[in-house]
Amino acid sequence: MENLEEKTKYIMKKYGINAHKSLGQNFLINEDVVNNIVAASNINKEDLVIEIGPGLGTLTESLLQKAGKVVAIELDERMIKILNARFFVYNNFQLINDDVLKVNLKELIKNEKTNNNLKKAKIVANLPYYITTPIIMKLLEEELDIESITVMIQKEVADRLIAIPGEKLSGAITYSVFFYAESEKVMVVENNSFIPEPEVKSEVIKLNIRKQPAIEVRDKQFFFKVIKISFMQRRKTLINALVNGGIFKNKTEANVAFEELGFDSSVRGENLSMEDFKRLCEYCSQT
Ligand code: SAM
Repeated sequence: MENLEEKTKYIMKKYGINAHKSLGQNFLINEDVVNNIVAASNINKEDLVIEIGPGLGTLTESLLQKAGKVVAIELDERMIKILNARFFVYNNFQLINDDVLKVNLKELIKNEKTNNNLKKAKIVANLPYYITTPIIMKLLEEELDIESITVMIQKEVADRLIAIPGEKLSGAITYSVFFYAESEKVMVVENNSFIPEPEVKSEVIKLNIRKQPAIEVRDKQFFFKVIKISFMQRRKTLINALVNGGIFKNKTEANVAFEELGFDSSVRGENLSMEDFKRLCEYCSQT
């Protein structure tokens, strides 16, 4: 069966699968998109690939042909039977039936790399959109031993993730992504590339994990806390957000700080660069 749309419909019918919206199930049916994701992830036989949400196994099949090993993590039990039936012939396939947010990825990567003599670990996924942010944050903040993350996500979220910190589209997550990774846009994907069609546009992005964080900060936890607070009340000025979030005791204290740092009092979170946030944090920890 050549056509991916036909093949997907056939598998869904055979196993009586209806997509669960609550699990973010939009199955890929566009061969070009699959090929582009696999090409962008740049996989070879020395790589461990972790696929999040394999679903019916569309991406998995191509990944298995390229990678040293594929560990796929899928929450929906209905998919487990299908995936095992499709891929039992591959001796480089392993399936974990769990919520990716609960899996100890650090240990998994360490064990897989050691036991199978694999050089690099790469994450590849058509992500369930309802938990994009927690998944990306887990992959970055746990400082996993990974080379890259190639994922399909909602376009609107992608634009924020790969924005330059301090530019208009910046959100708190922009700073986290930039801190840990260099990002690149792979392709925009039309809604009709999936069954069922999502209500939003999609985009494939690649995050290349930096060897060293983009900026050296003394207290990483405090740095990201300040950034988070700065974006919690987007319509407020940064001074108000920081006072409300407890970073400064009151507006007078905040105004003095802003004057000393050379920040305009009407500035908002998205106007500050990584370096500006670093200076703000250093100022706060000195006073
Ligand atoms: N990879 C398939 C494809 O491209 O056709 C399916 C992608 S679909 C957008 C997202 C997949 O993630 C679904 O199979 C869904 O069941 C799975 N999923 C949802 N929440 C999950 C979670 N917390 N942990 C692991 N997988 C999850």
